[in-house]
Amino acid sequence: MADGARILVVDDHKDNIFILEQLLTRNDYRVAVARDGVEALERATETAPDLILLDINMPRMDGLEVCRRLKSEESLSNASIILVSARAKEGDRVEGLDAGADDYISKPFSPKELLARVRAQLRLKGQQDQLRVSNQSLKEVSIRDALTGLFNRGYLDARLEEEVARLERVHAPLAVAMVDIDHFKRVNDTRGHLCGDEVLRSVATSVVSSVRRCDVVARFGGEEFCVILPDADSHGARRVAERLRARIESETMSFAGESFHVTVSVGIAQFGEQAQSPADLIALADEALYEAKSSGRNRVLVASGSAPVEGLVPAEEESGPVSSDSGNVAPG
Ligand code: GH3
Ligand code: MG
Ligand code: MG
Repeated sequence: MADGARILVVDDHKDNIFILEQLLTRNDYRVAVARDGVEALERATETAPDLILLDINMPRMDGLEVCRRLKSEESLSNASIILVSARAKEGDRVEGLDAGADDYISKPFSPKELLARVRAQLRLKGQQDQLRVSNQSLKEVSIRDALTGLFNRGYLDARLEEEVARLERVHAPLAVAMVDIDHFKRVNDTRGHLCGDEVLRSVATSVVSSVRRCDVVARFGGEEFCVILPDADSHGARRVAERLRARIESETMSFAGESFHVTVSVGIAQFGEQAQSPADLIALADEALYEAKSSGRNRVLVASGSAPVEGLVPAEEESGPVSSDSGNVAPG
């Protein structure tokens, strides 16, 4: 971040503004100006500057207060702040830095030194911005399954805990569906693991496209997926699962010039007397999945004891599959 960085100059004397504006534009910075503290906050919000050169003594709101407010506002706190003030005593500098400023320059200043301090702050900000971006992508990677881009098991567990905890406050149903590809081992054995991987990605996409925006789709492990269906009872969950089962059955897979089909079996459980914790819920859905497998595969079964609870709002029936920004698939 050198050339073209955005700098906001705040000063109530127009001569000071003029000098700084000239100096900075000549050095290829993009400059915005504000003439008091209140205007400074407005301009900062509008222009999202990388750096603010901030006077202290100003009408309406002084620079120290501006500093405190900027640093306490998350969306603005990334801007570096250099106080530029005629108040030059040690106590003033200490107060300024304690208010959150990153640096302090006394007036009158040497233009060369001011530019060097601007460069130093912008270097630091560039590094911090980069760190923020890589932290964000690390966080994103840590909740994703690498093969399918779906949420991973860790995220699923945490999210299911949250959804179950939410039921203490909100009187609503909650269901989970365990989806397992039928005879997947055969795909690997006869067509190879690369083909198997492709099938996993394709089924993942179909599951995401078959559920509602509020549903959470995760890769549970191997060739199993788990869907959390907030606000759905077992009837609603079964409708969703039936839709995804039919969709996957009808889809033609192709790999290395050959076409074939796969099917899935689904087990469903609803939170209730039989399943009062995330672990119970998964175990119950797993039992239903096992039943679906042993009774022929390519089918959806609801766990016995997973009847909808009286008086609760049933799941939206035909809300339709939506997935544009559900977060179910990793961005990018
Ligand atoms: P069922 O209908 O009873 O579910 O039979 P299945 O063959 O699908 O189930 P089984 O548990 O016997 O086999 C699952 C296979 O999934 C075995 C394992 O090698 C394969 N698998 C797990 N993870 C991956 C993966 O990331 N890529 C590929 N290609 N295969 C995987
Ligand atoms: Mg399987
Ligand atoms: Mg399995």
